[in-house]
Amino acid sequence: MGEDFEKLKQRLSLLDYLRQQNWVARPAGHSHEFVGLCPLHRETRPSFYVNAHKNLFYCHGCGQGGDLLRFVQLSRQLSFPQSLAYLNQYSAAPADPAAVLEKAAAFYQQQLDRYPEALRYLEQRGLHDRSTIQELRVGYAPGRSLRRHLTAQGYSFDLLQCLGLVNPQGHDAFYRRIIFPCCQDRRVINLYGRSITAVFAHRFLPGSKGGLYAWEQVRHCPEVILVEGLFDYAVLWQAGFRHLTCALGTHLNACQFQQLCDRPRTVYLTFDVDANGSGQQASQQLANRLRTQGITTRRVLLPDGHDPNSFFVQGGDAEQFRSLLETAQR
Ligand SMILES: [Zn+2]
Repeated sequence: MGEDFEKLKQRLSLLDYLRQQNWVARPAGHSHEFVGLCPLHRETRPSFYVNAHKNLFYCHGCGQGGDLLRFVQLSRQLSFPQSLAYLNQYSAAPADPAAVLEKAAAFYQQQLDRYPEALRYLEQRGLHDRSTIQELRVGYAPGRSLRRHLTAQGYSFDLLQCLGLVNPQGHDAFYRRIIFPCCQDRRVINLYGRSITAVFAHRFLPGSKGGLYAWEQVRHCPEVILVEGLFDYAVLWQAGFRHLTCALGTHLNACQFQQLCDRPRTVYLTFDVDANGSGQQASQQLANRLRTQGITTRRVLLPDGHDPNSFFVQGGDAEQFRSLLETAQR
């Protein structure tokens, strides 16, 4: 721990840190010494001294003093190891967005079991198998707790806002939503949040959704089932289907389309059969586009008004779904 901190102090001096926290100081007479208002207690006349040479501070008003780590402990009310983790993160190279999203996904995953309303919602959507929930890393965003969790680890508010995890008012962007991380090459590149209430059902973070969901796992399969939504994906996965991917909507982006066309294969289009016909219309259009690229397509016709999720929720099983695949339209 001591050695870590020595390296850290070389990267980040106490004075630099204070200035980055908007501390205003003037030289205090002696060389290497600065004085300004104390960030640790309220005062109108400066009594907070920093010795830039020794990397130490002392306040004549409140009597607190010490090094950078001590300052972080006092100013952010963190324990010693938390302060060290905070400073390591703070002084590291600009945070990798995927690493932050990975931390957010892990946090949401930990919350799931603590909120009965989240587990009830999964049950309603037909998702009950523990190993499926863990494999897909399903989580829950209760709201009002991610920001605190990530800022305590040294991620700046600006970064969280930039990634869309926190809105400009400072609140968690995902509130009462089931969370699915979307990964590419094992890195989390976006999060999908399904509201457990009726409002704004679907939400992603502002960045790219990337390619097809979990594409790495199926890219070599000669036959692939393509669904619209992650709950469709989840129930099919739970039912044992593995040659499966998800477009995260009915409209494929250029990358997703390219992925489906990267080698000869058969794609089973399994979109919603909704009352207004939009799912089937999208499915027909996509089938036509894929055929021009030499891809074999088959449109899976679910019973009227169903998507794969509701099909399973209302008692459909793997055997019945398999027979739908067999009779899918060429
Ligand atoms: Zn003070």
